[in-house]
Amino acid sequence: MTEKTIPMLDLKAQYAALRDEIQAAIERVMESQQFILGPEVEALEREIAEYSHCRFGVGVSSGTDALLLALMTIGIGPGDEVITSPYSFFATAGSIVRLGARPVFVDIDLDTLNIQANQIEARITPKTRAILPVHLCGQMAEMDTILDVARRYNLYVIEDACQAIGADFHGQRAGSLGHLGCFSFFPSKNLGGAGDSGMVVCNDPTLADRAALLRNHGHRPKYYNKAIGGNFRMDALQAAILRAKLPHLENWTAARRRNAALYTELFQQAGLTGQDGPVTLLPERGWGRHIYHLYQIRVSRRDELMAFLKTHGIASEIYYPVPLHRQECFAGMGFEADCPNAERASRETLALPIYPELTAAQIERVVETIRAFYAL
Ligand SMILES: *Cc1c(COP(=O)(O)O)cnc(C)c1O
Repeated sequence: MTEKTIPMLDLKAQYAALRDEIQAAIERVMESQQFILGPEVEALEREIAEYSHCRFGVGVSSGTDALLLALMTIGIGPGDEVITSPYSFFATAGSIVRLGARPVFVDIDLDTLNIQANQIEARITPKTRAILPVHLCGQMAEMDTILDVARRYNLYVIEDACQAIGADFHGQRAGSLGHLGCFSFFPSKNLGGAGDSGMVVCNDPTLADRAALLRNHGHRPKYYNKAIGGNFRMDALQAAILRAKLPHLENWTAARRRNAALYTELFQQAGLTGQDGPVTLLPERGWGRHIYHLYQIRVSRRDELMAFLKTHGIASEIYYPVPLHRQECFAGMGFEADCPNAERASRETLALPIYPELTAAQIERVVETIRAFYAL
């Protein structure tokens, strides 16, 4: 095989285009010798909050810590139940269980891989405190239904927007609809740093203040602890690098959307997507902008296809091979939850390269290789 490989992501290409801006940002922090929180983090908090249509941002150490901190901010603890999706990155459920609370899994919609909003109400009990929807792949969950049920039962809503920065629901950005929104700046996310970091965003000054307090051990002032928090602080280097990247995010999102549209067109032209076709595309719901953190398809003979792509130099990835209620660490917790769609998704989904620098020729090669596999 002489053709160049197509990776899931090409961060070297992104860095090559932004080298000067990023080097200047790093230099600024090194000259300041202020490495934790401080003016760079505060500036990023303002910029991300504004970008996400929120009043407040609280910079933290990861997306996982954003979720943990958001749940701590609303006081989740032992005896509480939090309704969430069984089909997400582990941290979505892990953060709930770490606080001694119990995740209640409501199955996903196979078209979007997001929680079935109309099934949430039936799972509410007197112990339910919050709903934690995930905007998977970059398309928002059905927030009108979720917010309506939350309002009627007086529940908090925390958005896991780690894959959805810049996505919107009828014009309202991810993170701004619930009581608190959580972002990850893990390097492979649409806006990724040079290491781990994340952010909690919100519109309520009391919640923002509580999150900021708990982010730093509940100190106020230092060494006088008003509450038991943790060290969830963000590094200034991450903030400075992310500030250099943020002005480019809209262009990257546009490129991802362009790539997704081309995939969809080519799959349809290749005749792979009909009623009995081997490929099922995940449609856009039309309630707002999908930012394509992931371009997922559902396919038959998924693992064989993945191996075939690999031998042809094309990377692909499974998000996620085991639904959360089936994770080994939760064995014995009684999650005999009936989530057939999540189980099916874990057997059928495949994520294809969708990063902004991907060329039309590369996308054509991916679809052509998949066509060749099913023609065998
Ligand atoms: C990435 C991600 C997280 C966790 O973010 P980290 O920064 O890696 O801790 C949480 N939830 C979802 C849905 C994610 O994709």
